Amino acid sequence: MSGSISQRLAEVKDRIAAACARASRDPGTVKLVAVSKTFPAADVLEASQVGQTSFGESRLQEAQPKIEQLPAGLDWHFIGRVQRNKVRKMLQLFGTIHGIDSLKLAEHADRVAGELGLKPKVFLQVNIGREESKGGFDPQEIVGQRAQLVGLSNLRILGLMCIPPAGPDAESARDWFIQMRGLQDEISSDFTDDFRDLSMGMSSDYEVAVEEGATIVRVGSAIFGGRDYGA
Ligand SMILES: *Cc1c(COP(=O)(O)O)cnc(C)c1O
Repeated sequence: MSGSISQRLAEVKDRIAAACARASRDPGTVKLVAVSKTFPAADVLEASQVGQTSFGESRLQEAQPKIEQLPAGLDWHFIGRVQRNKVRKMLQLFGTIHGIDSLKLAEHADRVAGELGLKPKVFLQVNIGREESKGGFDPQEIVGQRAQLVGLSNLRILGLMCIPPAGPDAESARDWFIQMRGLQDEISSDFTDDFRDLSMGMSSDYEVAVEEGATIVRVGSAIFGGRDYGA
């Protein structure tokens, strides 16, 4: 991968705009979350200096010192697996949580948010490919539990989120994204007006996700470069 963070960011934005044009969508309806997990705070700062404001992190322990040393006012998204015992700290650091993966966890987050006097934005994670290895609501389960979910008044449920099954190319994700869109359409009228977002699409498939209705794409390596998770 070549170029600077700002050049790659500009390229990702161009590609999002092109995907919007292909789908006759307004590019203003797609938010880019730059996934900075494993990358240093200096990289986030560099991206923020060219206008990027939304960032995604997947581990609380790694994110906390970064968030605390960076300028206030950035829009932080937690995109990793949510551990119940870390919800309190998470809600204090992140404005949006993408990985609410069960009714039980949603109820817990609602209770903690109430205690903190916060109204966090959350996404319900759907295990769209029904994979053993992944967390998330089963698509049928979310339909059955929607009444209880809507009742959680301390949460602003923005919509659904997924990580589709791995495939050989971006095109192989398309059908999963279409299914997500269908599920969103099926249940949205039961939720509040907040419920209108679809968080889907990563470096390998965000253009397809945008063509199929994503309103939030979570893109890391295409902006910051390859990741080294260490030993
Ligand atoms: C790491 C991660 C991303 C970004 O992945 P890239 O392939 O680097 O774009 C997006 N979403 C989730 C949930 C992630 O864990």
